Amino acid sequence: MQKKITVLPGDGIGPEVVQAAIKVLETIGEKFNHQFEFTYAKLGGVAIDDCGVPLPEETVEVCKSSDSVLLGAVGGPKWDNLPGHLRPEKGLLGIRKELNLFANLRPVSGHASLSDASTLRKEVIDGVDLMIVRELTGGLYFGEPSERREEDGEEVVVDTLYYKRSEIERIIKKAFELASVRRKKVTSVDKANVLESSRVWREVAEEVGKEYPDIELEHMLVDNAAMQLIRNPKQFDVMVTENMFGDILSDEASMLTGSLGMLPSASIGSDGPGLYEPIHGSAPDIAGQNKANPLATIASTAMMLRYSFGMQAEADAIEKAISEVLENGYRTGDIAESGKDVLNTEEMTAKVIEYLK
Ligand code: NAD
Repeated sequence: MQKKITVLPGDGIGPEVVQAAIKVLETIGEKFNHQFEFTYAKLGGVAIDDCGVPLPEETVEVCKSSDSVLLGAVGGPKWDNLPGHLRPEKGLLGIRKELNLFANLRPVSGHASLSDASTLRKEVIDGVDLMIVRELTGGLYFGEPSERREEDGEEVVVDTLYYKRSEIERIIKKAFELASVRRKKVTSVDKANVLESSRVWREVAEEVGKEYPDIELEHMLVDNAAMQLIRNPKQFDVMVTENMFGDILSDEASMLTGSLGMLPSASIGSDGPGLYEPIHGSAPDIAGQNKANPLATIASTAMMLRYSFGMQAEADAIEKAISEVLENGYRTGDIAESGKDVLNTEEMTAKVIEYLK
């Protein structure tokens, strides 16, 4: 197969982890006889510096004309004081919106060999295998108005949680589709005791659930979900939720695996290219030092192969290589026990490639 991949390295450790992922994709290309063509484009702080905006039009065009998009991370202290519309994160939200990527999939599965890196007890996290499905193009992060204004001589501020019913329906359907090839359980997370938007969310989940009679549907309030994720994460299969709830819960869930540096994500729409990225940020504290853990970005390419290209065997091969590398004790600094040997980004990438081959 021939596939065109747009690469958005972004800022901080973004270029380092993306380079690692590209090497792994090239190895997959050789091993399975595929041709991956990489086109680089700018997003985030680097785009602000070079083009004056976080998401240049040219980047949107290149992404739209490709089969898939690989992203590192954006942001950093250099751009922290710019006005909201010029922040690097605006570029990220913008490209998700432009590509209509309404579903963000974040799988969280613990590697038994890494359980010591988690702050939770081994018996709580061993065997965790869940998928957070976060709505990505609506909800509180996109609703208008989102502004400060003056009322009765005082500053007031408003953000808006806005959804069309169809937007809720399509993300919940996606969760049921995913659950149907997993352990057949959907937990719909909301705040229906307080928010009207959540009451509609719950109604829609019930309606969609009727189309999938063999899948168990449960509703859970977001505050309880946050607690249950730590208390007993093994109870979850697929969790589906609103944009901001999903943002928070998925970072919480990342700690089940011990490090942000381990977790991949996929953002997909109904058609067109998907966007694959690690869930961590640009880690300015370790940028440029060859210290970043590349495994989340490498695992994101496995998701790309699986969800955008239908290459199951290739995706499995990457995930197996990552597991074997970890089982054999290789660690980057973020997941190493104190006093143990630490690999840098390039060495860890080379190990994954060695096990792939
Ligand atoms: P972060 O994820 O960048 O870093 C949090 C901590 O985790 C840091 O100590 C960092 O060194 C460590 N870490 C993260 N990824 C790692 C990896 N691959 N290997 C080893 N250690 C890793 O979050 P932050 O510090 O809150 O944010 C830094 C910048 O990144 C900010 O500008 C923020 O806006 C941006 N950000 C971007 C994204 C994105 O591009 N998707 C997501 C989150 C944050």
